Amino acid sequence: MAGQDAVCDVTGCENGAERSLSGKKVEKSDLSLKESTGRQVHLCKEHYREYKKFTKVDRKLETMGR
Ligand SMILES: [Zn+2]
Repeated sequence: MAGQDAVCDVTGCENGAERSLSGKKVEKSDLSLKESTGRQVHLCKEHYREYKKFTKVDRKLETMGR
């Protein structure tokens, strides 16, 4: 039992973490994170998908702005 069971860092989410990402990146997304997150943020499958969706949109907007 060595810390393998990380839990998703999104507020109110109790799912097991599937991915770990840099906290700064995730902060820029729409996901609201728990207070106790460090540099690494853990996301479950579902929220990782949401995060990816957000970054995709973000990139699109950036391209359109030019
Ligand atoms: Zn989650």
